[in-house]
Order: sequence, then structure tokens, then C-alpha cells
Amino acid sequence: MKKADLKIFRQRLLALRARLRGEYTQLADSALNNTGNGSGVGDRSSMPIHMADLGSDAFEQEFTLSLMEREEDTLEAIESALERIDAGTYGECEECGGQIRKDRLTALPFTPLCVKCAAKTQR
Ligand SMILES: [Zn+2]
Repeated sequence: MKKADLKIFRQRLLALRARLRGEYTQLADSALNNTGNGSGVGDRSSMPIHMADLGSDAFEQEFTLSLMEREEDTLEAIESALERIDAGTYGECEECGGQIRKDRLTALPFTPLCVKCAAKTQR
């Protein structure tokens, strides 16, 4: 991949990461501001399920938490994509080593897989 392209993708990834981090913090705040039991907020295994004070129903709370988890996954994918840019392997499929198409990278700049391999893992 050309250096100019890499630069564009890096900027996209950085912007995306910043946005996700902002949203993540907001979500984390609204989901976790009622810990009350003194356990560490950063420890997900002890995350309080009970959040009656939020004024929303259990479904909404669960939805917030699952959304948060997905964003964390996305953040991890973004981090490793940035590492791949530094390592010079960005744009290569982690599964088969083939080139990931540029239109796919434009839509999903953090994807580690080509279309074929992504379809395989989703099955
Ligand atoms: Zn592949």
C-alpha cells in the first residue's frame, strides 16, 4: 500500500479511536456511576448488574453494557490496525495473507480480514 494511503487510513483510525473513546467514556459513566460497593470500576468481572438508580429498565441497561463491549472490541481492532500500519503489514489479511481490498478498508479501516476470511469466520 502507498505511504499516502497509509497516512489517510492512520488518520481515519485515530479519529475513529478518539470518537469511540469519547463515547465509551460516556457510556461507561452512565452504566457504572452507581457502583456503590467499592469494587474497582475498571474490573469488568465485578461490574454491578444492579443499576436501579439509572431510571431506565433492565433492557436498556443491558443494551448499554453490550454496546460498550462491542466498542471495546472495536477499539482493540483499531489499536492493532495502527500497529499493523507501523509494522508495514496494514492491508494484509491476517488469515490468508492476501490483500484486503481498499474499498473494504475504507468502510472498515480496522478490519484484519479480507472479505473471504471474514465471511468464513462469521459462519
Ligand atoms: Zn483472507
